[in-house]
Amino acid sequence: MLTKNVVMKKKMPLYAKILIGMGIGLVWGIAAGPLGIVEFTHDWIRPFGTIFINCLKLIAVPLIIVSLIDGVSNLSDVSKLSRMGGKTIGLYIGTTIIAVTIGLTLVNIIDPGHYLSIERRDQLRESFAADLDTSIITAHGTKDSGPLQILVDIVPDNLFNSFSDNTNMLQVIFFAILFGVAMILSPKDKVAPVKNFFDGANHVILSIVDIIMRYAPVGVFALLASLTIDLELLQALSVYSLNVVLGLAIMVFVTYPLLLKSMTKVKYSRFMKAVLPAQILGFSTSSSAATLPVTMDCVEKNLGVSEEVSSFVLPLGATINMDGTSIHQGVSAVFIAQAFGIDLSLGQQLTILMTAVLASIGAAAVPGAGIIMLIIVLEAVGLDPAGLALILAVDRPLDMLRTAVNVTGDSTVAAIIASSEDAIKDESELGKIKEIDTSQVDTSQS
Ligand code: ASP
Repeated sequence: MLTKNVVMKKKMPLYAKILIGMGIGLVWGIAAGPLGIVEFTHDWIRPFGTIFINCLKLIAVPLIIVSLIDGVSNLSDVSKLSRMGGKTIGLYIGTTIIAVTIGLTLVNIIDPGHYLSIERRDQLRESFAADLDTSIITAHGTKDSGPLQILVDIVPDNLFNSFSDNTNMLQVIFFAILFGVAMILSPKDKVAPVKNFFDGANHVILSIVDIIMRYAPVGVFALLASLTIDLELLQALSVYSLNVVLGLAIMVFVTYPLLLKSMTKVKYSRFMKAVLPAQILGFSTSSSAATLPVTMDCVEKNLGVSEEVSSFVLPLGATINMDGTSIHQGVSAVFIAQAFGIDLSLGQQLTILMTAVLASIGAAAVPGAGIIMLIIVLEAVGLDPAGLALILAVDRPLDMLRTAVNVTGDSTVAAIIASSEDAIKDESELGKIKEIDTSQVDTSQS
């Protein structure tokens, strides 16, 4: 009896609840047509999904502002470590650009959206994108204004206009980076209260994300229930997921080994064995932040990277370097456009590249952050963010995989920086790979 009580009191993890919400939503979506409850679902179930999407949109601007300002201003030791800081940020941005490019190339070749018939695409566009046409006209208008218009559009002339419109997210990011850099350049004692404020605000915003994610099982159920699901959509979703997985695999099995080979003496097989515990933990928690202590342990003990390098490069990487997330953003944005039957121009794909890089920098290292940031990418090219409903069903497993890639990317850069600074031990000095203690990990965010 006692054991039974104990067992019953054990809380079900959020991801399990989301999976259950997803499962019930899928079954509902499939059964709605035959049971004749499509209208009921539209009137009484779908609004709860819209509320969920609204909550995600609501938190996107504050999340970027606070997390970016906090992250950038933490770089105060850039002056001390300016050379290392420059190299690290350069590599982080470089690998992220490579990642989005891989994702965009694959999704254009594989074209998962074309597994949907033209009628199905029209139907999806109609049900999701009431105001799509005007947004596309706006996007085309932008394209017609000249090649450098993208750059001009990033710099706001009125901050409040940028804050009040989710499509101006790049402007918000621009301001947040400017603010963070200005904080670094200002006298420490003068900006201390501002820093404390943003530290505290960061915690508050992450708690809000946590609250919203608690509602996710209901939101996901409602969104999926109101999606008329058929074999065609399931097939397109599987191809889309495989597309993301292939992009992630290319990053881990081609890009990172090439970088390690050309910039370090670290053997790839040793590297993979060394960071395996961090990858597994990233996979099971879906949070690079929760995995950080273990990533640091693996990189220091198993790869022999000095503490000075790892304690600078890895926390920064957990916050701003998300190669897995950026691959996912590129593939998802184009897939949603394809599913709506919209051909994105080269200019729009370039906007996706830029926004995905910035969005992955701005994404918090917690579960589901990538999908929130995807809203920015979608809105930047004039796509209705409600299109997220299409891919929500498969987001959790993809989040697990992209987080594992995120921590692998951070570890790769740590090895490269340490090699260039002569701050990494030789394999012969290291001996066997040690067991890593994972008991110190805070998994509350997963
Ligand atoms: N869960 C990812 C991470 O923590 C972020 C994302 O949602 O892509 O690295």
